[in-house]
Amino acid sequence: MRRALCTLLLLTAGCWSAPTQLAPRSGGPVGLPHQGVLTGGKSLPLEGKGFVRFRKDGIHWGHPNLVDAITTAAATVQRARPGGAPLVVADISAETGGKIPRHRSHRTGRDADLLFYVVTPDGRSVENPGFLHFGADGLAPVKPKSRTFVRIDVERTWLLVASLSKDDTAGVQWLFVARWLKAMLLEHAYARGEDADTIYRAMKLLHQPSDSFSHDDHIHVRVACSPSDAVGGCRGGGIYWPWMQAPSIEPPLNDRQLLSALLSPATESR
Ligand SMILES: [Zn+2]
Repeated sequence: MRRALCTLLLLTAGCWSAPTQLAPRSGGPVGLPHQGVLTGGKSLPLEGKGFVRFRKDGIHWGHPNLVDAITTAAATVQRARPGGAPLVVADISAETGGKIPRHRSHRTGRDADLLFYVVTPDGRSVENPGFLHFGADGLAPVKPKSRTFVRIDVERTWLLVASLSKDDTAGVQWLFVARWLKAMLLEHAYARGEDADTIYRAMKLLHQPSDSFSHDDHIHVRVACSPSDAVGGCRGGGIYWPWMQAPSIEPPLNDRQLLSALLSPATESR
């Protein structure tokens, strides 16, 4: 069925699996973040400069732009504030994308979960043990109902956010996070006198989503479809901010949309 659709599509709008002059590469995200697959993904190693992976399973493949942005940001934080615990990177996508446990999105290699840097109440940097829920006071119990707390390391988490916000190659589209943690990070940035452009970008990118959890336990990074990804069938997922390069063409239809177009062309062509 898929091959037949691709053959038909080649005659009309092109097919993501067939490189053309407009689509010189044959890999990348295909479809929407919550309904798509990943081709030509890049693997995030189990550990590297300034980061470790949270899980040892196979959910560590992503858009090369995303994986590079994470490793660059982790290394930047380590360089700026050496000696601290590494960034803990949780789920990205499966090698070929598609549905994975625990997530609705994360299907096309454009989404990654990053745990906050944390410190003990007396200020020692420690590795985030995993998805702790931080309140408006910046504290999180290390286990439900525990009396032992850690604090969000605002300084190092801001450096992470700043690196991701400034990374023009990555094309970061969202940094989903709870609004009280967003406020904390931006307040820190203002107080530190960070440059206005970085703060402006972070203000736009940091966002508490209205259609999912508040994200008080991790930052969810999403990168945009690059213009070349869009030619290959990458679609949706957010807006293009003024500093980003938006695709200049309408991305081709995915198989489901194509099928619907073939069955009812008049409706689809509107
Ligand atoms: Zn997430």
